[in-house]
Amino acid sequence: MRGNPGLRFPVGDVAGNAAPTSRPQVAGLGWPGGVAGTAGAAGAATWAGRHRTRLEASVAEGAVRLPEPPIVADTPLARAAKAAVEVRGGRAPSWPRPDSCRIITVANQKGGVGKTTTAVNLAVALALHGAQVLVVDLDPQGNASTALDVDHRVGAPSVYNVLVDDQPLADIVRPVEGVRGLSCAPATIDLAGAEIELVPLVARESRLARALAAHDVSDLDYILIDCPPSLGLLTVNSLVAGVEVLIPIQCEYYALEGLEQLLRTVDLVRGHLNEHLVISTILLTMYDARTRLAAQVAEEVRSHFGDTVLRAVIPRSVRVSEAPSYGQSVITYDPGSTGAQAYLEAAQEMAERNASASAKAAG
Ligand code: ADP
Ligand code: MG
Repeated sequence: MRGNPGLRFPVGDVAGNAAPTSRPQVAGLGWPGGVAGTAGAAGAATWAGRHRTRLEASVAEGAVRLPEPPIVADTPLARAAKAAVEVRGGRAPSWPRPDSCRIITVANQKGGVGKTTTAVNLAVALALHGAQVLVVDLDPQGNASTALDVDHRVGAPSVYNVLVDDQPLADIVRPVEGVRGLSCAPATIDLAGAEIELVPLVARESRLARALAAHDVSDLDYILIDCPPSLGLLTVNSLVAGVEVLIPIQCEYYALEGLEQLLRTVDLVRGHLNEHLVISTILLTMYDARTRLAAQVAEEVRSHFGDTVLRAVIPRSVRVSEAPSYGQSVITYDPGSTGAQAYLEAAQEMAERNASASAKAAG
């Protein structure tokens, strides 16, 4: 683990600091009171005409400043409004796309730390900014499939068929409605049995890696794999298939417990099954700015992991937890909310970071 005592917890990055702005002053544009009221209509028109001519002359001489176009302040509110307009109008600017497909495994054996929320929202944010993204749902609960509104009822073609029946991934991938460039390989509850059914199969840890290797990823920029809350065969499959590991860490007291075990598992997989595996990204989730504990956890994580930790921090936000019940990400559900803003920032950071870790995906 790397230490980086120089890093400060960037609450300001998330809350946003209002940059002071000044509004342009308009000087000398007052009409003399009472004149229009006392003169007749024709007189008023003549008077206005005379004065307009004088005003135009003043503008030409630079004595009068006309208002400039309104300044868009860099405040949290302005950023939220801008994001809402971009997302709703489908006009978000493109972010840099990686040279080759980045395969990112979102893993943490603790449940409820924000793995699914992170996989879904990063995927939507990246797709809205011009990337081609595939979400692979590897959790039998199918939460990512629900959030993306992709059919995952029992019997629907799913990742189970890929892992256990050797069905090509392309057969089960579905487009996500409403988000161009985004698709999902759904998980059904059948996948719960896969942990056991995989045991006697040949190369049981590499089934997903093989499926991805056989899949045409030439048009894809990102594959995000949403893991179940365990370190069983499904998670091991995702670690063997992935190149980068993204660990969401909840800003709570027990957050760091169990992390050691995850790091050991990553080391083991790197040592025996996938030498390319790196922990490329750590994301702090469910940050509650009102508690000192959240700040302490965040500080501790940063001091351990240095700049592997994204600057963006995901706040605890009701909008984030509401979105899945509408079959949406928080970014499409309420793009102006603090949660959506934070996921957009996190995704942009990821997009702009060096993608060299994914060299393997090209080969
Ligand atoms: P995991 O996939 O690690 O089990 P989830 O992403 O499903 O975790 O999140 C667990 C629960 O917490 C879900 O109900 C989710 O909606 C909620 N949640 C996730 N992130 C946030 C957040 N930033 N603010 C509020 N609730 C959140
Ligand atoms: Mg989950």
